[in-house]
Amino acid sequence: MFLSLLLAAAVTAGSSLSSSLADPTVRPLAAAPVICVDPGHGTVANPEGAVGEASRALRLAEVLEPMLVEAGFRVVVTRRGSRDDLGAKNQVEDNRRRAEIANGVGAALFLRLQFDAPNGAAALYVPRRHPDRELAGRSEELARVIWQSIEPTLDSQIRRGGVRSDEQTAVGARQNGLLTGSRYATVPVVLLEVVPLNAAGVDWIDRAGNERAYASAVVRALKTTLLGQ
Ligand SMILES: [Zn+2]
Repeated sequence: MFLSLLLAAAVTAGSSLSSSLADPTVRPLAAAPVICVDPGHGTVANPEGAVGEASRALRLAEVLEPMLVEAGFRVVVTRRGSRDDLGAKNQVEDNRRRAEIANGVGAALFLRLQFDAPNGAAALYVPRRHPDRELAGRSEELARVIWQSIEPTLDSQIRRGGVRSDEQTAVGARQNGLLTGSRYATVPVVLLEVVPLNAAGVDWIDRAGNERAYASAVVRALKTTLLGQ
């Protein structure tokens, strides 16, 4: 099962190297950065967070993936179905597996999608207590740029949690300041609490065009920071 998952997580590339291979005088371009998109929950060991969270996270990942590829990134998605088997026995192991997928491809960003923050829409970063301070700093920088880009797309009725560290979440506070995905990540992490699934949040995210608007704001931020465009 784990092998089939790895195959399913194969990198999708937006560009072809054929022109540089045909002409040895043309230096191949540096490989495009990989974004590991992680739709929360939806696995055997971690089936559902908030009601409707797993399916909305997957839907957003499916909108985001082709837009990232179009922008020039390579993309790996941690799950593609509603009950994928990541070979984990419990939720902690499940989140560890997701981090290992991002680590395994040397992702420029492990981008996690969730919908259950009590404090509202947010971009969470890895705090400096992570053993790799450089990773933590990069994570915070990316969270700030992504938040700046997505915040104006959100309806005014949606509560804002803003840019926060793992330490400022209930789970993070219980786990020595780090969410499980961050603890096992060796690459920068941003966890997007897209919108809370209360009336205002559900109404907004399920309205036509809003997933695309949100995804496109994320892609714009990543193009600026990671591709310098
Ligand atoms: Zn969740």
